[in-house]
Amino acid sequence: MSREIASDVVVVGAGVSGLLTGLKLAQVGLRVTLVERSATIAPAASSRNEGWLHAGTYHASAIADPHEAVQVARKCLYGYHQIRNLAPESLEWSNGLAIALVAEPVRAQQAEERWEEAQVRFRRVRPRDVEPALPNVDLGRAVCAYLVQDVGIDIRLLYRRLLTEALRSGVSIELDSEFHFVSDTAGECVRRPDGAVSRLRYRRAVLAAGHEINRLSTQLGCPVPLRLWKSHILYGPQLVDRPVFWLDPLEVAIVNHAPSVSVVGMTTDAIEVEKADFEVEPSRVALVEEAMRRTIVGEYGDRFTAYACIKVDMRSGRAPLSVNSEIRRLSSAVYCVSPGKLTEAPFVADRVVHHICDELLDSRIPVRPWDRAF
Ligand SMILES: Cc1cc2nc3c(=O)[nH]c(=O)nc-3n(C[C@H](O)[C@H](O)[C@H](O)COP(=O)(O)OP(=O)(O)OC[C@H]3O[C@@H](n4cnc5c(N)ncnc54)[C@H](O)[C@@H]3O)c2cc1C
Repeated sequence: MSREIASDVVVVGAGVSGLLTGLKLAQVGLRVTLVERSATIAPAASSRNEGWLHAGTYHASAIADPHEAVQVARKCLYGYHQIRNLAPESLEWSNGLAIALVAEPVRAQQAEERWEEAQVRFRRVRPRDVEPALPNVDLGRAVCAYLVQDVGIDIRLLYRRLLTEALRSGVSIELDSEFHFVSDTAGECVRRPDGAVSRLRYRRAVLAAGHEINRLSTQLGCPVPLRLWKSHILYGPQLVDRPVFWLDPLEVAIVNHAPSVSVVGMTTDAIEVEKADFEVEPSRVALVEEAMRRTIVGEYGDRFTAYACIKVDMRSGRAPLSVNSEIRRLSSAVYCVSPGKLTEAPFVADRVVHHICDELLDSRIPVRPWDRAF
């Protein structure tokens, strides 16, 4: 016999985006069911990323369009402060502020202008001032250095906090359960491994399903084309005392995670792929290794291991890689959301909660004069 679950909102996908959205919806009094097809929360991109909590620095210079760059920086700052307050225990401790390096003078000027507009905090220093903090980093190419607020985050502690708060707020979490649409206000979940089926009725659904947004939106009859971008990351023994990254393209970003691990990513290295798999492509790993050799002097041997992660982008055609967040409405009852960055997830979650609360009114709260007008 199938089980019937009625809720105000069903959230599909328990990555960082779904967890935050589910928690926030429950905190404003809605009955929420959060459905995740894996046996654990956040099995996909949300736990394979580099683990930076971005303070708006890197994206303000990496995105070509100045307006978009400033908006992304602001959304990152929004999420940065919220996540710090929500789960302070998840932040990695470091011996000092992170250091951003720049090789091209024009990039330094552009970054500073955008940071000022987005109210990003930074302090410009001379590259030689950061030499003692980065003894094995080749600073020869750096024309500028900045002390910035970006930090490493232990995402397991963030998700532990989100899971605990979500359960405490009454979110019903269905793990090992794959969601399918029956109509836009009804779905079903097939639970592995026993095949039990739950029927879901809801007033709103939020698809926070990462690369599966395409398949689910197609089921609903309003397909959202997705582009998939694969990036490669290395991890190994700690390389540097302080998190450090270049603002220039195709250079490394190095963040430390306890206990004594450095995770090395590369700026703007993503390639568009057809399939959302995590298979490692050796030629792309070689690029990250080369960039690492350009920055780190001395021996670190072959103790670094590569893995891949996929980012989703709801833009189509030839638009450049978007690192921006998106919220789309697929029908009167269904939204889909994708944060460009884990750090942007609080912004996306708050926006979608705002829309849903506007629609699912609480009769104890008065309407404003203009609420009836539109
Ligand atoms: C290489 C790389 C490095 C990155 N580094 C950083 C970083 O350092 N800092 C940062 O802020 N961001 C970073 N990001 C971005 C960040 O990882 C993503 O923006 C974020 O994890 C997306 O989260 P999500 O919840 O939208 O998606 P996902 O984590 O993909 O979650 C989607 C969930 O939906 C579930 N699901 C799918 N279909 C169904 C279904 N039918 N039924 C039930 N469940 C379903 C999946 O199992 C999954 O758990 C990085 C991304 C990449 C690619």
